[in-house]
Amino acid sequence: MLKIGCHLSSAKGYLSMGREAVKIGANTFQFFTRNPRGGKAKALDLEDVAAYRQFAEEQGLSPILAHAPYTLNACAASEDLRTFAKETMADDLQRLEHIPGSLYNFHPGSHVKQGAETGIRLIAAQLNEILWSEQSTTVLLETMAGKGSEVGRSFEEIAAILEQVDLQGKMGVCLDTCHVFDGGYDIVGSLDAVLGEFDRVVGLGKLRAIHLNDSMNPLGSHKDRHQKLGEGSLGLEALERVVNHPALRGLPFYLETPNDLEGYAREIALVKQLYRT
Ligand code: FE
Ligand code: FE
Ligand code: ZN
Repeated sequence: MLKIGCHLSSAKGYLSMGREAVKIGANTFQFFTRNPRGGKAKALDLEDVAAYRQFAEEQGLSPILAHAPYTLNACAASEDLRTFAKETMADDLQRLEHIPGSLYNFHPGSHVKQGAETGIRLIAAQLNEILWSEQSTTVLLETMAGKGSEVGRSFEEIAAILEQVDLQGKMGVCLDTCHVFDGGYDIVGSLDAVLGEFDRVVGLGKLRAIHLNDSMNPLGSHKDRHQKLGEGSLGLEALERVVNHPALRGLPFYLETPNDLEGYAREIALVKQLYRT
């Protein structure tokens, strides 16, 4: 079955997101765990969580993808910033235990002139401090476009982080179609080859979610500007091949395209049309 959803605002809580998802034809969704620019999360409303869990069960909404604030930098040069990233992610993971079996996605970080190798080591060290063996959430590294000094710009960098994490069973990868294309992986011209390379370097078994976005920029641009499906440099035919690729079957797809709710409803209907059952 096709698992499709989009990014929703978490301002009104879980039940509200669940209702919104169902209203626009989604059967999963993504949300920021707190203000995307960081900062303190609101106290968890346990009644809202309980109501959401019952609603999600009835409607078959799962798994949901919590996205860490994108300002966190697990490999910042300053120890204070690294500690802030660590404490925020640890807190997010504690809270997510209230919704068992969720996914938690984060941008690995920016090494800011320390070099990718140092960045990779710091990110893995941080994960080793916050993961625990009984947690029910799977933590995903997002593939990045390679803007500035972003770590995770290549499959090799993603694999290098994963290799240094002790609790590998708690880790996975979220592949963003805009990011990998901007990162230089030609998923338009040679999707099979790119996924084959991902399998050799990281392992397709690690892939747990797809961010389904078109891109405003050409292959290898390292820009990271998302576009509506079919209106960017990937195009609908390439996205149709992504949605139907046998290696990606069964993975949840999340739209992060520039859309309001109505636009998302239309794109979700479009992806359902593209998907061959
Ligand atoms: Fe992201
Ligand atoms: Fe993304
Ligand atoms: Zn992006």
